Amino acid sequence: MSIVIRTAVLLFGVAAFMTVSSKISPQDSILQGIPGEKTRVIDLGYAINDKLVPWPGDEKYFEAKINATVEKNGYFTRSFWMLEHYGTHLDAPAHFPPGTATVDQIPANKLFGPAVLLDVRDEAAKDADYRLPVSKIEKWEHAHGRIPPGAIVLLRTGWASRWPNVQKYRNQDQRGKMHFPGYSVEAAKLLIERGVSGLGCDTLSADYGASEDFSVHHLALGAGLYHLENLSDLSAVPEAGAFLVVAPIKLQGGSGGPVRVFALLP
Ligand SMILES: [Zn+2]
Repeated sequence: MSIVIRTAVLLFGVAAFMTVSSKISPQDSILQGIPGEKTRVIDLGYAINDKLVPWPGDEKYFEAKINATVEKNGYFTRSFWMLEHYGTHLDAPAHFPPGTATVDQIPANKLFGPAVLLDVRDEAAKDADYRLPVSKIEKWEHAHGRIPPGAIVLLRTGWASRWPNVQKYRNQDQRGKMHFPGYSVEAAKLLIERGVSGLGCDTLSADYGASEDFSVHHLALGAGLYHLENLSDLSAVPEAGAFLVVAPIKLQGGSGGPVRVFALLP
């Protein structure tokens, strides 16, 4: 090749590269950074075993049995049984209002979205019955802009530091009433208005522990949102800028089920 042709090929190559590069959006670069670990991937769930904190009242919550062993069968398999709402799990809309979407019917595009992290650790440390007020969401929007439709909200209460201590995590009083923080009805209303896909928390329930009517569940699940409960430590997730991948079990007819949740950090 002559120098002229080689230079032309080189310039063409650079131009083609620049064209491709200019099409890469920040979201694409988050995905492209995963294999090379430029993008950090954080796992926001607990491994499932029989030592997790169950909702009070359930006697049996998890069991795994060996089905085949390498010694006997040449391969290893187990069978397992568990509650749909145990450990890090997703509440499908059908968990409350009958006739709404079961876990397998949640549209796949609602399982991916920007994370909105609301940090209430200080408030929750002072008041175990704390409920996220609307002002906290307004403060977030003041700093980061309006919450976009399709966002997934994470309420960081700091309760994950109590996991898996049943007493501390449930925080039941003498009457058996639980005390842990959650969303308020007013906050849930505003987040529904914003068009978010889901409400997550690092506690047993999106409703605060002492709730008797589960009003946030009725409201948010009734509006077609899902809940992510018993998320693990959220302290590495920034207030804004992370992208969430939510992968629930595709269990036909399920009221919810175990879920993997990943945060991608640019
Ligand atoms: Zn729930």
